[in-house]
Amino acid sequence: MYLITFRPGTPREEVESAVSALTRLGFEAQRIEAEVPLLLIRRDSGWVEAGSLGRLPGVLEVVRLAPEWRLAGRDAKPGGTTFRVRELEVGKTVLIAAGPCVVEDEKTLLDTARAVRQAGGHFLRGGAFKPRTSPYAFHGEGAEGLAALRRARDETSLPVITECLDPRQVEAVAETADILQIGARSMQNFPLLREAGRAGKPVLLKRGLGATLEEWLLAAEHVLLSGEERVILCERGVRGIAEHSRFTLDLAVLPRLREETHLPIWVDPSHATGRAASVPAMARAAVAAGADGLLLEVHPDPAAALSDGAQALGPAEFQALVPQLRAVAAAVGRTLG
Ligand code: PEP
Ligand code: MN
Repeated sequence: MYLITFRPGTPREEVESAVSALTRLGFEAQRIEAEVPLLLIRRDSGWVEAGSLGRLPGVLEVVRLAPEWRLAGRDAKPGGTTFRVRELEVGKTVLIAAGPCVVEDEKTLLDTARAVRQAGGHFLRGGAFKPRTSPYAFHGEGAEGLAALRRARDETSLPVITECLDPRQVEAVAETADILQIGARSMQNFPLLREAGRAGKPVLLKRGLGATLEEWLLAAEHVLLSGEERVILCERGVRGIAEHSRFTLDLAVLPRLREETHLPIWVDPSHATGRAASVPAMARAAVAAGADGLLLEVHPDPAAALSDGAQALGPAEFQALVPQLRAVAAAVGRTLG
């Protein structure tokens, strides 16, 4: 629904001709009597964009009144989306997914998974297919990495979150993943979003490096339109002026998202800050700000990690953080796990 405002003094015939033009374009236009001519228009079968309507003679401004994220919007599910992954209740309790950036070898992954389990983590995260900025960086073990994730899950019973990069990989990755991750760099890969939404697994959708709230929610809408209702939004920092931090963690987006959408909201302080020393404070802050979950990079030996070692917590650091997160969650009326 849009409100079209005309310039003061626009002749009546010009407004009438705009109404006829809008009707021809498939919109339903309703005139509102006011000091300046106003039209309330409903998008019916019309595909024409609001920006184009601004080109009609006499039009001053076109304002959208209802958000375009119809399925992701709060009104679609006022109670909020919650769903189960095994015994975990996503969207209800605060959950922690932890693990390496990239699945390296089976032993390292198993060591990590055991440490995550023992410290009280709920999911094992780790990429078998990695988006890497440099083509010379380690891109993951692919199918072998998926097999290692399955073995780690069998041994620890931690459900697995892993990334899918390409629409052609979705089926294979979904066979292993309990939650399919769409990375920040893929947030607007629309064919991937559509395919991920057909895989029958929940989707964790990371925010693009420079994506607005609107672009992010419309990306989620693509997944929802494919039929998958279990979508998690994950804030992971956006590009800012910071040199002290890899990205800028936008915690201010959390309360706004809560108003706009019923989808669960997670936060990834590891990729947002890029520094292990900054991660615990931002993880606590995220839970205090209302996050429903955290994605944390943990590696048994960060100095030897093949990817993102600078931001990985060691097992002892992770173990020390979990009780703090439990306390913060309790302070804001939530429960961890
Ligand atoms: C990740 O979580 O493994 C990752 C690559 O993060 P992002 O897509 O947010 O950069
Ligand atoms: Mn990483």
